Amino acid sequence: MTEALYHTDAYLRLFEARVTAVDGQAVALDRTAFYPGGGGQPCDRGHLGLGGEAVAVTAVREDDAGGIWHRVGRDLGAGDTVRGVIDWPYRHALMRHHGLMHVVNTVARDRYGGVITGVQIGPDRSRIDFRLAGFSRDRVPDLERRVNEVVERGLPVRSSTIGEEEFRRRPELVRTLNVLPPVVEGRVRIVTIEGFDAQACGGTHVHSTAEIGRAQVARFDNKGKDNKRFYWDLSA
Ligand SMILES: [Zn+2]
Repeated sequence: MTEALYHTDAYLRLFEARVTAVDGQAVALDRTAFYPGGGGQPCDRGHLGLGGEAVAVTAVREDDAGGIWHRVGRDLGAGDTVRGVIDWPYRHALMRHHGLMHVVNTVARDRYGGVITGVQIGPDRSRIDFRLAGFSRDRVPDLERRVNEVVERGLPVRSSTIGEEEFRRRPELVRTLNVLPPVVEGRVRIVTIEGFDAQACGGTHVHSTAEIGRAQVARFDNKGKDNKRFYWDLSA
């Protein structure tokens, strides 16, 4: 099992690690800051430094046993020590968008009774789908305004874990209908926006809603009677 450094510090962009296993041109590390993807957030990019050489990491995935694999496109040896470097502008953009998605899904639920059915986070534009009966295009400005009010309040965002039993007693922590959050060693990760929301999530987020920046709906599509799709952009 790989130690997930991105869960203890989402702002960590440099780290040292040891290669614990090799599978073709992918390597598992004993610890990593590379997010393997999940919950709508794509995996990280970056490179592994080995001696004087920088080896690009082109994909990252987590296996069922919690090992995190980095595709490097060349052979590394088990036991090698590497210096990991995260592509920070890309990751930070994803963290801002990920924080935004928490604010959006909470406002959509509290204000309009929306239930999230899918999310795809991007560094420039994120897509979020809701089952949202009775929501029409003329309500988009109201949604946008309420989301930006939360952003501007600069609320702290923090993560913690709770036991699986407590998690089952708090169904409001689950937001996505078709994807349950991962349970790791009997614990579920909870991301809290103080004074606003808490939900189960295994991704990486900014530390304050202020860091998200101004948000706008770039596009709104009706996908059938009750299914609505929103594309959100952030100003730099
Ligand atoms: Zn999240």
